[in-house]
Amino acid sequence: MKNKIFNYDIAELTEFLIKNNFKKYNATQIFEWLYEHNETNFNNMTNLSKNLQDFLTKNFTTINLKIVKVEKSVDTYKFLFCLEDNNYIESVVMLHDYGKSVCISTQVGCNMGCTFCESGRLKKIRNLQTYEMLEQIYLIQKELNIKINSVVLMGIGEPFDNYDNVLKFVKLINNPKTLAIGARHITISTCGIVPKIKQFSEENLQVNLALSLHAPNNELRSKLMKINKVYPIEDVLKEIKNYINKTNRRVTIEYLLLKDVNDQERHALELVKLLKNLNVYVNLIPYNETSKINYNKSKKVQILKFYDILKKNNINVTIRKEFGKEISAACGQLRSKEVNK
Ligand code: SF4
Repeated sequence: MKNKIFNYDIAELTEFLIKNNFKKYNATQIFEWLYEHNETNFNNMTNLSKNLQDFLTKNFTTINLKIVKVEKSVDTYKFLFCLEDNNYIESVVMLHDYGKSVCISTQVGCNMGCTFCESGRLKKIRNLQTYEMLEQIYLIQKELNIKINSVVLMGIGEPFDNYDNVLKFVKLINNPKTLAIGARHITISTCGIVPKIKQFSEENLQVNLALSLHAPNNELRSKLMKINKVYPIEDVLKEIKNYINKTNRRVTIEYLLLKDVNDQERHALELVKLLKNLNVYVNLIPYNETSKINYNKSKKVQILKFYDILKKNNINVTIRKEFGKEISAACGQLRSKEVNK
């Protein structure tokens, strides 16, 4: 099987080329074609020798994902990709006033089984490789002719359940010679796998960490997220505290608001108690209703009440802008439709 060029950083490609009697500078040339000129056909890389073009064609593939569908609303594009093994994944592009961000998938399906999540209904089939994560961004940039400014790992999959590939991906896209996405513009979102949060705190990376909390007590969180039975709230928050102390970085707490489930004043007050004195920032997420899951979106007035309680108690908080209501914007919806076909 051929190697995947988008798995390689420049040092690895240089080593591979030198081993095969090519020159160090050839790696730089190839990276310029791939990442500056968006050229993925080796035969069009006109400053490479014919010998090197043939060698690359024989040994490497470039694009392995296929765009199957693009759904568009005013400020959002949703991409459905088909992988080489005919599995499907999806990514969402959001056009903010301050830049363009993409939420990518890290696994085919997910084993975490959060009850509000369409992705969790389709079990994990496999982890994505580094090149499959990178190609999502690469193809989106090419298709829409845009430069992505920030990347969130919050699509299908639990990033820390695919730790090594995710870490390699983050380092790769952060490199100025590849996609050059600033570390502070990359966010890894986890449902709270405690040993991996600990491991991640030792990586010395400047990327952002987000924790999907979604409930202020164990009883409720265990109903929403089965990972809570393995790593309950007190263990996760203890590790988050260690992470903050070690890295000196603020952590985002994701809180999905579900009507009459976790959006009442008492929940907000419980959340305040939990997060007081922690260097965190709470992102309240209005739920994106899907036909298959029995949760509803909180009323606007309730969302604002929840927000006010946090704010009045000095918790840093924002309400996430809603994107792509007209399309299948809830994580996993587009893939789920395709798989169910
Ligand atoms: S919310 Fe995230 S971790 Fe939970 S099932 Fe969905 S994809 Fe998996």
